[in-house]
Amino acid sequence: MDPSVDPLEFQVWPRNARRNSSGALAIAGVDIRTLIEQHGSPLFILDEQDVRTRAREYASAYSQAQVGQPGIVYFAAKAFISVAIARWVTEEGLGIDVASGGELEVAIRAGVPGDRLLMHGNNKSLAEIHRAVEYGVARIVIDSFEEIARVASVAAELGVVQKVLIRATVGVEAHTHEFIATAHEDQKFGLSGATGEVEEAVRRIVKLPALHLVGLHSHIGSQIFDSSGFEVAAARVVALAHLLQVNHGVTISELNLGGGMGIAYLPDDDPLSVQAMADQICGLVAKACGEMGLPLPALSFEPGRAIIGPGGITVYEVGTVKPIHMDRGVRTYVSVDGGMSDNIRTALYGANYTVALASRLSTAEPILCRVVGKHCESGDIVVRDCWLPGDIVPGDLIAVAATGAYCRSMASNYNQLPKPAVVSVSDSLSTTVLRRETMNDLLSLDPFA
Ligand SMILES: *Cc1c(COP(=O)(O)O)cnc(C)c1O
Repeated sequence: MDPSVDPLEFQVWPRNARRNSSGALAIAGVDIRTLIEQHGSPLFILDEQDVRTRAREYASAYSQAQVGQPGIVYFAAKAFISVAIARWVTEEGLGIDVASGGELEVAIRAGVPGDRLLMHGNNKSLAEIHRAVEYGVARIVIDSFEEIARVASVAAELGVVQKVLIRATVGVEAHTHEFIATAHEDQKFGLSGATGEVEEAVRRIVKLPALHLVGLHSHIGSQIFDSSGFEVAAARVVALAHLLQVNHGVTISELNLGGGMGIAYLPDDDPLSVQAMADQICGLVAKACGEMGLPLPALSFEPGRAIIGPGGITVYEVGTVKPIHMDRGVRTYVSVDGGMSDNIRTALYGANYTVALASRLSTAEPILCRVVGKHCESGDIVVRDCWLPGDIVPGDLIAVAATGAYCRSMASNYNQLPKPAVVSVSDSLSTTVLRRETMNDLLSLDPFA
């Protein structure tokens, strides 16, 4: 990262982010200083047009790239969901993948029709299954043998036939820009394709009149930058579909290849374009099906981060600035008014971010900084290494890019911090998506308070 370049120049910010004439960051024409005055700090800001545009791009790229029957692109709600977001993405043509009763309830409140919903989870409760089947969720993804019987009994009780997919593990795992293919799968999700578990699940499902098996699901991981990660997975899933056809006479009419499409957090991150990724993945599946003589299934996908991540930023107020003298030079610890409670990704998996001084323009020489939170953990780091102007002072606002996904959705109340608000901006107007929590919200849970 070149310290002399204003970090706002890098292609990691929402599409409508600019410095305005007073040198402050504005999103869609709204000065972030005004938003902080209205909603307090820290604050999540979403560029509505950015999120809607990405949702639309995914819906259109994957429908154009399909060779067989069109599948659905579901937005993975766990990245971040609220009623407003559920409406934006469905208005732009996506479905929604929910992984809990809570995520399902938000989608229901938003009025998302059941035929646009898919349910995941490796331990869905009976109540969650009941709510999903009753609401008419289009697909339930079976993750274990126990669940086959559970979904079947709920569907039978409600007098419906539930469409299901089997989550298959195919020994491919993606890890930030790289993937590994293994034979053995030591993790909690899905049923193994290699050891015959998927075949056993098929045997059980086809005997149950309340279940209709439509296909297979495979999700290989996150932050995938090119189609190579999907290549091995697609070949193995197609081989599995072929096996089911030959050995069990079952036609797999749908393959869901999950999410994981990567986004840029740092200036050098360069994910493949949406259309190119769609063309390549769909091409890989078509080729694999051709080689096996298998009819083309409908392809579905579940991007989360790639829809909601890039359009979101977090703004914090600087509270203390502490230079630490090291063997070689100085690093300055810049403490902000949030931290691991609103962004756990840095502590959890060493994520890295781009950060910029957002309340004013500075021409001061950049200094090496670490942006840290206010929690009682030394691992409470927001941005591990970054350059900020040397005249940074308490009261300045700084913005962290690409925090729309997996930040507010993973937020906690650690140290009894209220969760920040989420506001969206569009055409110079702002809308509250989630209001800021208050001390009363927190205390209201405590009957002794
Ligand atoms: C997490 C997850 C997704 C979304 O992943 P992104 O990296 O946000 O695209 C999709 N499907 C499943 C099953 C997941 O677990």
